[in-house]
Amino acid sequence: MVKILVFDVIVIGAGAAGMMCAATAGQRGRRVLLIDHAAKLGEKIRISGGGRCNFTNVHCSPERFLSRNPHFCRSALARYTPRDFIALVEKHGIAYHEKKLGQLFCDDSSERIIDMLRAECDAGSVTWRMPCAVEAVARDDEGFLVSTSRGQYRGASLVIATGGLSIPKIGATPFGYRLAEQFGLRIVPPRAGLVPLAFDVNEMKLYGDLAGVSLDVAVSCNGGRFRENLLFTHRGLSGPAILQISSYWQPGDALHIDLLPDASAEALLFEQRRSRALPATLLSEYWPRRFAQQWCAAVGATQPVDQCNDACLREFAARLHDWTVKPTGSVGYAKAEVTLGGIDTDELSSKTMEAKAVPGLYFIGEVVDVTGHLGGFNFQWAWASGHAAGQAL
Ligand SMILES: Cc1cc2nc3c(=O)[nH]c(=O)nc-3n(C[C@H](O)[C@H](O)[C@H](O)COP(=O)(O)OP(=O)(O)OC[C@H]3O[C@@H](n4cnc5c(N)ncnc54)[C@H](O)[C@@H]3O)c2cc1C
Repeated sequence: MVKILVFDVIVIGAGAAGMMCAATAGQRGRRVLLIDHAAKLGEKIRISGGGRCNFTNVHCSPERFLSRNPHFCRSALARYTPRDFIALVEKHGIAYHEKKLGQLFCDDSSERIIDMLRAECDAGSVTWRMPCAVEAVARDDEGFLVSTSRGQYRGASLVIATGGLSIPKIGATPFGYRLAEQFGLRIVPPRAGLVPLAFDVNEMKLYGDLAGVSLDVAVSCNGGRFRENLLFTHRGLSGPAILQISSYWQPGDALHIDLLPDASAEALLFEQRRSRALPATLLSEYWPRRFAQQWCAAVGATQPVDQCNDACLREFAARLHDWTVKPTGSVGYAKAEVTLGGIDTDELSSKTMEAKAVPGLYFIGEVVDVTGHLGGFNFQWAWASGHAAGQAL
């Protein structure tokens, strides 16, 4: 007869949220099994933050997250804060620094965060199975039966921490969404977030050769507004400002880009009312010269300032504060840092992450319809939601 190993908790997905949850439950005395199909632990943590893992943000607040229910994340975030995670990092002697805007990074490497989470799981006597493919999940009166490539396991509770669809080449799968559907739970349609956006053919002709050029802008779309750098790429636009706004952008929408966020374009142009300089020459003081020349040519601002009439100068000033660009799409999950959408938060308890209709089934981390801004917020959600479930199991 096949022996079925029995646990209090089975966690599927040993990423940021899964390890936090397993460690928390294990240290509370629960017998925990942690399963992942990948051969290498914590790949997404490893590549995060350019290899240094932007593990939290000291300015974390619910306003930094997108979700169909913007209040859902409040409870978990309030009960496990950046301070709590920083205390853990300090307990493990990991050196870190603030880069900008409250973003905390490891001094050394993301590997330190993976080692820390593994050690925390070991402190909770967590049992590991990886690589281990999950073949089927069934539920009966005793809990959940998980059939895998390495045998069958029974758990009173089951936690799904398999993340979103971003970066399939390091192991992202739609497992969490399929499992939710199996149990009749609703999904907010997933889409790529924190992702570069593509230009159309005409804009590629105008700006395609500016790849590598960056400038400081304020970009707005659908109620989001971000003041950061924009970067031209071989396919369109990227840089922190564009990654941030991509989470607000929907196909067909235009981005509104303020190219002079710190100045009044009208005041600037009218101060130079009698100047023979070309607009591109004036704007080169604010922007990289190549961009100034190509952008002014593209919008037809090619006459010296003293030859423009007032109406024309006003119209040009307005365009400087509202360059309207219509991306054709995002570059997709292969380059997206996160997946928006996921398990509909109406289906879950905001205190414990347990499915209201399926006692014992929990969803944590990125698989849930809670997505942070760029800057350490997505990891903070993984820690906080993993901790909330780990405390409740
Ligand atoms: C390039 C990049 C850089 C990033 N940098 C940052 C950053 O600096 N700061 C920040 O806050 N956020 C960053 N993020 C986002 C952050 O990595 C994620 O939001 C976070 O890892 C989500 O945690 P999670 O545990 O929910 O999912 P993940 O960390 O993705 O873990 C999911 C786990 O589930 C496993 N899995 C998937 N499918 C299955 C299956 N079918 N069976 C078994 N196991 C499965 C995967 O192998 C993986 O180990 C970055 C993302 C990317 C792609």
